[in-house]
Formats: sequence, C-alpha cells, structure tokens
Amino acid sequence: MSSGIRFDKVTVAYGKNVVLDSLDLTVEPGEVMALLGPSGSGKTTALRAVAGFVQPVSGRVLIGERDITALPPYRRGIGMVVQQYALFPHLRVEDNVAFGLKAQKVSKAEIPGRVAEALEMTGMASYAARYPRELSGGQQQRVAIARALAIRPNVLLLDEPLSALDAQLRSGMLAELARLHRELPEVSILYVTHDQVEALTLADRIAVMDKARLQDCGTPQDLYRRPRTEFTASFVGNANLLPVQVGSGSVTLRSTVLKVNTEGVAPGASATLCVRPHLVGLGEDGPNALRGTLVEVQWRGSTHRLYVDIAGHRVKADVRELRETPALGEDVTLHFAPEDAVLLGARVGETEVLAGALDG
Ligand code: ADP
Repeated sequence: MSSGIRFDKVTVAYGKNVVLDSLDLTVEPGEVMALLGPSGSGKTTALRAVAGFVQPVSGRVLIGERDITALPPYRRGIGMVVQQYALFPHLRVEDNVAFGLKAQKVSKAEIPGRVAEALEMTGMASYAARYPRELSGGQQQRVAIARALAIRPNVLLLDEPLSALDAQLRSGMLAELARLHRELPEVSILYVTHDQVEALTLADRIAVMDKARLQDCGTPQDLYRRPRTEFTASFVGNANLLPVQVGSGSVTLRSTVLKVNTEGVAPGASATLCVRPHLVGLGEDGPNALRGTLVEVQWRGSTHRLYVDIAGHRVKADVRELRETPALGEDVTLHFAPEDAVLLGARVGETEVLAGALDG
C-alpha cells in the first residue's frame, strides 16, 4: 500500500534554538520530494523527524493517515540511506541487507529471498559475500540502498546519499535512483540535498528550505520559471536579480523602461526583476533593450556567459551561438522577452519610505 508523508506544523528546537520552524509540507504517495537548501537550513532535521531520530517540540508527523510522532524509529517501517553509507564493517553484504529484516522480525525462511531481491534491484547480487571494505564507495552506497529497500518500505528517506561520491559516479547513481523509483512507483521518497542538479533531476517537487523555514515548494519547472522569492530564484538555477520600480505594464531600472507583466503589483512599488541568463540574448530584439559595457566573457562549452555592466549591475547572458565575440569594454545591448521576466518581492513605496525613516 502506498502512503505519503505529512508534516503538520512540525517545530524542532535544540534548547532555545529553533532549527525547524513550523514546517507544513505534504509528500504525496509515490512522490519524490527533494528538500533543497543550504547547509544548516533544517533539511536533515526534517528528515530525522520522519525517521524518529529527533522529537518535535510541537506539531505532528503522519505517514498516510497515521500519526507516527510518538512511535520509536524501528516501528515506523521506513527505509533510510545516509551520506556515509553506515554499513556494518564486520558483516558481509548479505548480512548488512538482512539486518533490518531481522530487526523487523521477518521470518527466517523469508529473509534470503528478500535479501536477494534487494541486491538484485541495486545490481549488487554478485557481491553478497563480500565485506564492505572490499567494495568501492558507489557499491557501498548501493548496498545501503538495498538494505533500506529490503524491508519494503512505503517511505524512503535519503539524506545526501550521493555527496560522498565523485562527480561521475554521482551522475550514474542519480540515473540509478530514478530507475529504482520507476520500479517502485508506490514508494514515497524524501530526498535531502544541497545540490540543485540532483533536486531538478530526481524530484517531482522541490521544497526549498532556508533558515529553518520552508521558503517555496513546487515542481522543478514551476520553481525555475516562476520562483516566488529571490532566495528560490538564485538557489534553483541561475538568475539575474535587478532592483526596479514598478510602473503599469513596465518597470524602470534606473532610467531604462522595460516591458514586463506587472499584473497584481501596484504601480510605485519597488521590486526585483528576475530573468534567467539563458533567456537573455545579445543584440537588440523586441521591446526590452539593456545597454551596457561588456566586462567579462566565459566560454562554457555549449554557451558563452557574457557579463555586462548595466547601470552598475552585472547582468549575465548565456548566449548559444556567438558568431563574433565582442571585445571587453565594448558597448553592447542585451534583450529579453517580456514574458521571460518575473517580478519578485514587490514592496509598496510608502513601506520603503517608512522603513528608510526608521533606519535613519
Ligand atoms: P541541513 O540538513 O539543512 O544542513 P540540519 O537540519 O542538519 O541542516 O541542521 C539545522 C540546524 O540545527 C543547524 O544549525 C545545526 O547546527 C543544528 N543542529 C542539528 N543537530 C543538532 C544537535 N544535535 N544539537 C544542536 N544543534 C543541532
């Protein structure tokens, strides 16, 4: 049976230090949810609250309809994989994988079949008799995943499972995890990572965390195309964030008027205009022309990243086909389409004036 995970206003504190602040989040049955955020933002704490290794000071954790907040970890039926594999060094691979089954009191007769099934699933069947020290890092992580899957969990918790692996192995394991999820579509997965590529690749939805709080939650495409906060815009993908004054159907960056969608934002507000670098083009095209000076060019294989100083802001443009690279110091024009820009964090002018008065 498939069941989701629900955080119902979960708060965790160490002494007076609140490290998870009233988290409300639902992982749907069979969904992969990434918890993405910088180090110290509370991601692991949220995961450990589901596993039962930290006790919330308030709020509830539910698996399906069941409130598990007070259950001990071993009774939650959850599979968990952490960064450092945490295999028992003195046990062979098969005994490592059998460990959780014994703890769950699965019948002796059933254990070998379940171990073989889990090792098969992770491509480790021929390594059953080895010790962890006889395996590479990637293989050890596969065994850790097999161990978590052997108990046939409804919920799988993954805490930075790839961060101890080198870049090439990481991308291979990412594909493996995606395949495993296709084979086990009923398992709900909570995946903690600080790596946006992992989150964008694997997750059905991403919950963005910062400073103990949930900042944003949506599909990778939503968060990328329509971030709600500057934090999300810069943490999920790369972003140009420009301070602008809002007009009607347009905004002003210093003296440059730019046509964008201002729906829902009162004229006169200060806001941040977010445009992704790959949506900024070189040359004049359409209604939005940003004139400035080219200050840096980086070649990135399939694109050139241009840095252009526009009214004191370093605007990034990722240009695919650059016939002639303009010289550094040259005046250039950049453009973007009105529909490719998003307005963030609009504040009404008066609030700003008031804040300014209080500051000074
Ligand atoms: P993340 O996984 O996003 O890196 P964590 O959830 O591990 O963040 O940690 C959130 C905050 O909680 C950090 O500031 C961390 O120092 C603090 N913290 C985590 N575990 C403990 C603990 N056992 N005692 C005190 N503070 C802790």
